[in-house]
Amino acid sequence: MNKTFILKIYRGKEKNQYIEEFELEITPFMNVISSLMEIQKHPVNRKGEKVTPVVWEQGCLEEVCGSCSMLINGKPRQACTAVIEPILKQTGRGSITLAPLSKFPLVRDLVVDRSQMFENLKRVKGWISVDGSFNRGFGPSISQKKQDAMYTLSTCMTCGCCSEACPQVNQNSKFIGPAPISQVRLFNLNPKGKLEKDQRLHVLMEEGGIQDCGNAQNCVQVCPKEIPLTESIADIGREVSKQAIKDLLSLPDRD
Ligand code: SF4
Ligand code: SF4
Repeated sequence: MNKTFILKIYRGKEKNQYIEEFELEITPFMNVISSLMEIQKHPVNRKGEKVTPVVWEQGCLEEVCGSCSMLINGKPRQACTAVIEPILKQTGRGSITLAPLSKFPLVRDLVVDRSQMFENLKRVKGWISVDGSFNRGFGPSISQKKQDAMYTLSTCMTCGCCSEACPQVNQNSKFIGPAPISQVRLFNLNPKGKLEKDQRLHVLMEEGGIQDCGNAQNCVQVCPKEIPLTESIADIGREVSKQAIKDLLSLPDRD
């Protein structure tokens, strides 16, 4: 007989969530997404009842878009890279529990609305403004060390795992979360992005800004891209302090 495992899935909508169990055959290299696809093809629960297929989000399937983020055995991570057999081996249990991220509004089953993260990126101007495309020759050179640091920061996929793990991100707080702070560092490091450095820092000086970080350092431990979030927070904390003094004295930018 083939080996099977149990997927326990939090289903339903806000205030009406329930756990539904599905028994699935283990196939080589099966991951959480392919397991959910199996359920979609044959939506019958462990009791043998035909149910509505489970709803989840997916995009790139290579841990780049962040859309399949969910709680897998309580840990925020991407479903596409969560391979079944190693997880079962690691936990020594015959089941895996899937739940939606808890810090974002629940849409249904495993789907949450991460719009707040994108709105926060808009607030901090998470982009490089261009005023047209003209041939102005080579841009300013960026050292290899700085390029490497910027590349790591640029791999953020707005997946939400860091906000999920952060105790300061909750219903009673307006904290912007670690990812937008790290993106401010990225865009302020860019020679052209630096032109809007003050505006980005000012957003982080508002209510819910960088001062709300409690330095619990949970964020850096769950980031699937290993982005040095606490380093970014410390760096931007210093920049915000410099900006506050500059504002007080109305000094011009000397960088
Ligand atoms: S250091 Fe702690 S409080 Fe600050 S963003 Fe990270 S998890 Fe949140
Ligand atoms: S910083 Fe890391 S955990 Fe946070 S949104 Fe970006 S990729 Fe996800």
